[in-house]
Amino acid sequence: MWLNSILDTIGNTPLIKLNKITKDLPCTVLAKVEYFNPGNSIKDRMAVKMLEVAEQEGKIKPGGTIIEGTSGNTGMGLALAACVKGYKCIFTTTDKQSKEKADILKAVGAEVIVCPTNVEPEDPRSYYSVSKRLATEVPNSWYVNQYDNLANRLAHYEQTGPEIWEQTEGKITHLVVATGTGGTIIGTGKYLKEKNPNIKVWAIDSYGSLLKKYFDTGELDNKEVYPYISEGFGEDFVPANYDMQYIDLFEKVTDKDGAVMARRIAKEEGMFCGYSAGSCLQGLMQLKNQLKKDDVVVCIFHDHGSRYVAKIYNDQWMMERGFLEMKTFKDLISGRGTQKVITITPEQTVSEAIDLMKQYDVENIPVMKDGEMIGAVSESGLFNKILNNNSIKTETVASVLEKSYPEVAFDTPVERLSTFITKENGAVLSRDESGTFHIITKYDIIQSLAR
Ligand code: PMP
Repeated sequence: MWLNSILDTIGNTPLIKLNKITKDLPCTVLAKVEYFNPGNSIKDRMAVKMLEVAEQEGKIKPGGTIIEGTSGNTGMGLALAACVKGYKCIFTTTDKQSKEKADILKAVGAEVIVCPTNVEPEDPRSYYSVSKRLATEVPNSWYVNQYDNLANRLAHYEQTGPEIWEQTEGKITHLVVATGTGGTIIGTGKYLKEKNPNIKVWAIDSYGSLLKKYFDTGELDNKEVYPYISEGFGEDFVPANYDMQYIDLFEKVTDKDGAVMARRIAKEEGMFCGYSAGSCLQGLMQLKNQLKKDDVVVCIFHDHGSRYVAKIYNDQWMMERGFLEMKTFKDLISGRGTQKVITITPEQTVSEAIDLMKQYDVENIPVMKDGEMIGAVSESGLFNKILNNNSIKTETVASVLEKSYPEVAFDTPVERLSTFITKENGAVLSRDESGTFHIITKYDIIQSLAR
């Protein structure tokens, strides 16, 4: 049995129980893992649906051009559909987005126009204005506008909702969705509430988005809007796909908490998901007091972690934003008390170096002259030299000097320290605030990482 095109693999994604992160919750938590779609996100569903409706309504004709302002998941879905159905795609995106994202869209045949980020939406150079202009200039083109295109939510009403209803055999009690255009939550939520009006639909919003305040008060408050790091959800306006009667509450999740939770989902559940999956599950954890024993919660995991490898799955990126507290050089030596680094001078003998190694059970000894490190001796280095020439024991340390250990900042994270340790370098050094040297060896690092 074969499928007619890649588009036939869209949908029917698995619903998978979370077993570790949610173990203290009284209920069952299931994830609708949408990265199983061919474009690695839930947006494949609405991309194809919007295109089909446009075809039916005669908005696009064979050989036409699809135009949208997108850098991510919707673009991927549209590009796949365009490949199969024989359309061209032009996407506008901003220079804030990573180059990889544009390259991925180009790989599946789309033309990508990169526009400046720091201009108002009304500015003719903005990605929004450029896509709108292109839609009027390019013949036989169709401007998708996923925000206000109601085929977006229809895709989820027709697919995502029924799939979840069937997969839970009607037992679902709560749907939790990180929401952006509103397509996923409204389409899925409407279907499920029509099946059972008692089902609760919880929306997860980002700080820097006005959606929650609008839901709570009816006010479109631009003071709620500011730049944020979370991706894929939250908005600075209310797209036409929203119909708030299908949402029961909004909960906000911080950039940090969403990112940290996404990393936990990958590590603890083995699901390599995108940022908003972390935010979605984090939002649920914040609301856990509202859950009861027999509840069956479905969280939507919108996309795949590969899009975020340079972001939330990069330790450096996480640390720079204060999202990851890492053990540092300082933390590793803090448990040692006042124990000083064992050092030796270049004038001392190899025998003395070996005695020190035995006495203090150390393998690496910095060689110091006038308070500065001029090199080092290591157990493995001396072992090789003595095997070749036993009489070397009486010679000076200066004659067997190995390279100095790298000196790093006192707050260097442990993960970075390991990159300094090589075959030749068994240790790294650092000075504390008072200028005293401390040493960390390969074994200290292994022990700390194993803990
Ligand atoms: N998460 C991710 C990763 C997304 O790409 C999107 C779509 N912008 C959403 C969440 C929100 O989905 P929707 O637009 O259907 O509300």
